[in-house]
Amino acid sequence: MAVTETFPELPLFDLRLEQSDLDAVAQTLRSGWLTMGPRTAAFEEAFAAQLGARHAVAVSSCTAALHLAYLAAGVGPGDEVIVPSFTFAATANAVLYCGATPVFAEIVSRERPDLDPEDVERRITPKTKAVCVVHYAGYPAAVDRLSELCDAHGLALIEDVAHAPSATLHGRKLGTWGLAGAFSFFSNKILSVGEGGLLCTDSDEVAALARSRRSHAMTSGTWDRHRGRTDTYDVVALGYNYRLDEPRSALLLSRLERLEQDIARRRELTLRYRGLLAQIPGLIVPYADSDVPESSCYVMPVLLEREGGQSEVARRMRERGIQTSIFYPAVHRFSAYRERFPDVTLPITELAAHTELTLPLFGHMTNEDQDRVAAALAEAVAAT
Ligand SMILES: *Cc1c(COP(=O)(O)O)cnc(C)c1O
Repeated sequence: MAVTETFPELPLFDLRLEQSDLDAVAQTLRSGWLTMGPRTAAFEEAFAAQLGARHAVAVSSCTAALHLAYLAAGVGPGDEVIVPSFTFAATANAVLYCGATPVFAEIVSRERPDLDPEDVERRITPKTKAVCVVHYAGYPAAVDRLSELCDAHGLALIEDVAHAPSATLHGRKLGTWGLAGAFSFFSNKILSVGEGGLLCTDSDEVAALARSRRSHAMTSGTWDRHRGRTDTYDVVALGYNYRLDEPRSALLLSRLERLEQDIARRRELTLRYRGLLAQIPGLIVPYADSDVPESSCYVMPVLLEREGGQSEVARRMRERGIQTSIFYPAVHRFSAYRERFPDVTLPITELAAHTELTLPLFGHMTNEDQDRVAAALAEAVAAT
């Protein structure tokens, strides 16, 4: 049965693969070896090199990478991990997978919706084991200050770099500031292949743990046995099936070559967007033009100055064929979190969550597309 879908005229994200990408996947499918093997290893090597990290461990998702990073930090039952609430739920969910407690901290402001190091410091207790920072929309959070803070308190710093491949702070790549970084290759991310993730680290121990646990903590893999290296294996810890497969690795390897080029284009589009959106009254455009060169420009967020118009503005945009989204509803306000943590209040995060709208952004977007989004948004905000 054919699958047909209707898409908005101007979607939030749009993926265009090139012939070389399709060829790389087709060749892999014809090779007869589909689970984690030589292409995954080649992708890991290429990704580590471009990041400037000692190790890159490919896994099935960023969520899996976060889980392994927390485990590597020694997070377990009774421990606390400080996380933002202005993020995707996975940042906090993976803390719960470890039997530990996520402690939500505030963002700095709606103009700079990143984890606030001062609020993080206030929330440190004897139970705190780690801090996870999210580089929202691809812009560097204050990992310089957070890494000092974590060092001073003996805490592990984990970076959720799902939005920020190849972004930097002071010229140093995001994902390399703490004990480990967790990247996502999910459908709507910058380096997307459907599903996939990666843990990067400079620590040999963290890398060894991640490599072991991603495949049931077996002492040898299927590829090793296929090549006759060994016939048996032991299981030495509680592991998971967090493997990436070869077709996705081949697609990643092929797409990685164009990553810098894709991001350069996103930066151009973001600067042009910023110019257009700055003229719309009633709108906050977070970050500054001068932040754009360090950002991977994953999404284009805006915030309505006043509360109450978010769904109406989104509805008006949809009527004009323009898809928007909310990055993000506050995690601590989701039902599953309210049940567990009914007393959490984070006023800045809640205001940001109730006023944010994410606009379409993808590499082959045209100037006309952007003009259309800006005009529709100006009209929708004025009418709401
Ligand atoms: C997408 C995303 C994740 C989860 O990534 P998956 O690869 O889908 O598991 C985690 N954190 C943030 C901030 C994300 O945007």
